[in-house]
Amino acid sequence: MRAEKFCLNCRELIKGRSDKKFCGDHCRSNYNYNQTGADDLNFVRNVNRTLRRNRNILKALNKKGRTKVPKKSLSDRGFNFCYHTNILETAQRNRYYFCYEMGYLTLDDHEVLLISRELMSAK
Ligand SMILES: [Zn+2]
Repeated sequence: MRAEKFCLNCRELIKGRSDKKFCGDHCRSNYNYNQTGADDLNFVRNVNRTLRRNRNILKALNKKGRTKVPKKSLSDRGFNFCYHTNILETAQRNRYYFCYEMGYLTLDDHEVLLISRELMSAK
């Protein structure tokens, strides 16, 4: 008696030799490609999601383009301070961290200055 085997990629019943794992070459390469890329792709997706959430939080708190807010109001909304897209350092050595077009400058332990890219380049 021979056990039925199913393709690891498309779950179709495999006909023929019982040691086969895939119904054909197409399914084999497809499966291997997805396996190797899955972790990297998930990592990229998660970073992108974090960056977008950061940007949305900055945008929601910064309607005027430039405003001071408590640092807590960012972290309360789930802001992740580890992630940003770029850093802008001014001549005064102030480091603005940007998530796309929305940036912030840490003023002290409790307060941050939010600024949009537009206003940043205008000054
Ligand atoms: Zn298949």
